[in-house]
Amino acid sequence: MYDVIIVGAGPAGASAAIYTARGNLKTLVIDKAPNTGALAITHKIANYPGITGELSGKELLDTMREQAKGFGAEFIQTTITDVDVEGETKYVFTADGMFEGKAIIIATGSKGRNRMLPGEEDLLGRGVSTCATCDGAFFTGKTVAVIGDTEEALEEAHALTKFTDKIYFVVPRSELQGVHHVPELPNTELLYKTKALEVLGDKKVQGLKVRTAAGAEEVLDVDGVFVFLSGSKPGTDFLQGQVPLDEEGFMVLDNSMQSPVAGVFGAGEVRRTPVKQAVVAAADGAIAAMAVDKFINKRTQLIPQYK
Ligand SMILES: Cc1cc2nc3c(=O)[nH]c(=O)nc-3n(C[C@H](O)[C@H](O)[C@H](O)COP(=O)(O)OP(=O)(O)OC[C@H]3O[C@@H](n4cnc5c(N)ncnc54)[C@H](O)[C@@H]3O)c2cc1C
Repeated sequence: MYDVIIVGAGPAGASAAIYTARGNLKTLVIDKAPNTGALAITHKIANYPGITGELSGKELLDTMREQAKGFGAEFIQTTITDVDVEGETKYVFTADGMFEGKAIIIATGSKGRNRMLPGEEDLLGRGVSTCATCDGAFFTGKTVAVIGDTEEALEEAHALTKFTDKIYFVVPRSELQGVHHVPELPNTELLYKTKALEVLGDKKVQGLKVRTAAGAEEVLDVDGVFVFLSGSKPGTDFLQGQVPLDEEGFMVLDNSMQSPVAGVFGAGEVRRTPVKQAVVAAADGAIAAMAVDKFINKRTQLIPQYK
């Protein structure tokens, strides 16, 4: 019987494991594919506090996982087939057997859209990005395309104007959804009713093929493509029916990352996080871990970790 089973070893799960193991909770981390989470596939991470120089997301994650192991957390790589989390003991069924815990933290992140553009996945981290805050500075003085029709896409394009020489803002519809006033963005060409067809390039982005409002196919000469099309899905399918999820499958959590089901917690991009950043996911993991500690020890208040 583990004190806590953490599902997912991205920044949320790994950070939770550091805190629970350091807090002497018997901790098991189950991760199905440690090289495929959002941070694990991040080519370069430059904005994680305390990290300087060029580090890949995987290198950062390996450090976090080693830190958790150093405090006694066990890690296994396997696929979850089912869970039973409604009772006092939480059961996790995997291809490698069944595990029991007193509490469970779901930190399985969110997957990209089901239908990606041709070339998008291959060039992710090589010119394709989903985060202007993370990657904007890599495109200083360059030309990029922003694809999307939401307020988020507008904000991200705005953030990119600080760095780029030119932005093609590719909007699939005739307007931006929910935006009443579109501000003038410097060096930005808005292309309404334009459909992105393919991200071009071999080892790096070399262009974006689009179909224009007039129906012609054109290639935009860009060095980067920022994609803000909707459809990211949290990895919560295996919780269906046992833990309340919102209409898009995100976990419903309180400020302590506790779900309405006793002993079931979540962290990172399984919740409707306001900011999709590794540091935020890691902070969620720390909060969830401390709430688990409180839950297991039936404490009424969070107690300081070090006395
Ligand atoms: C291309 C790209 C670039 C980015 N760049 C930056 C950046 O520069 N700076 C920054 O701060 N943020 C960046 N981000 C965002 C950041 O990576 C995410 O916010 C963060 O990784 C979310 O953490 P998480 O732990 O919730 O999920 P993830 O990192 O996605 O980890 C989830 C883990 O759960 C595992 N898992 C999933 N389903 C299951 C299951 N059923 N059973 C067991 N395990 C499972 C996965 O294998 C994975 O290891 C970037 C994201 C992307 C996609």
